[in-house]
Amino acid sequence: MKKKVKLIYLTCIGRSGSTLSSLILGDIEGVQNVGEIDNLEHVFTDENKQHLCGCGELIKECNYWDTLFKKLKANVGFNRSAVTYNQTDTGPFGNANHALLEEILKKTGNSVIFDKSMQFHRLKKLLKSPDFEILILHQIRDGRAVANSWRNFSKRNNRGFDRLRFVSASIKWMLKNLSIYLMFHKNENYIQLRYEDFVEEDKNYMNAIIDKIKDRFSLTAATGDFKNLTNHFVGGNRMRFSGENRVIKKDQKYLDEVSFFEWYLCSIIQYPVLKKFNYQFNKIKKDSR
Ligand SMILES: [Zn+2]
Repeated sequence: MKKKVKLIYLTCIGRSGSTLSSLILGDIEGVQNVGEIDNLEHVFTDENKQHLCGCGELIKECNYWDTLFKKLKANVGFNRSAVTYNQTDTGPFGNANHALLEEILKKTGNSVIFDKSMQFHRLKKLLKSPDFEILILHQIRDGRAVANSWRNFSKRNNRGFDRLRFVSASIKWMLKNLSIYLMFHKNENYIQLRYEDFVEEDKNYMNAIIDKIKDRFSLTAATGDFKNLTNHFVGGNRMRFSGENRVIKKDQKYLDEVSFFEWYLCSIIQYPVLKKFNYQFNKIKKDSR
């Protein structure tokens, strides 16, 4: 029987602050951050965009991946495209992921993988395979902030229909978080991670999450202050390339950007899930921070 790969899987809807949490949690000693590994094939084959590796190099030119693929290909006939979740495939997915992640752990000397591929279909499929031992992190951020962030993203890309984007993102937020919750909350290895709580200046919340991870996988020392930025991972946003002394700040811009009407429309759409995760229905006042 194969040795199980220990894995922390971060699942959420995009724009919930997962890049920030993966930089912190993926830097716990003994943990290897692989980023959005489900996009591995895409970042190597995308003809419209040159993707960067976490180390800052173009991923296609990064020696780390190249060496890894050559070795895996020679040893186990590794096929990169099988790493990506695919609804129809039944066999190679588990094997390809196990081979890749096991090799990454060997190469880096770490014992646990941090996978922030986000989508829950991939998680479901990994859970079905006997080759992984998985800790599920469900990250959640205020749905009004997430919907606003999707609207801003679409504005920056001049996609139009801004308010419609806001509404459709509100619905998606509700459906995704509800699905993730219903599918996984009974799993004994399910942990919730609230964005608003971990960006508070009080570090206890994040330290408690770090302790749970350490306990679960018997890891000893932790750093948790993301010093190690030379790390080869897939996807994420530009945050990983910014300066060393970052201060985690609560992002409250959405409180100004979301109108009164939009706030309540979104709150009505998202009501059951907002309530479940302790978000206030009414518009909260901005802190002085
Ligand atoms: Zn790299």
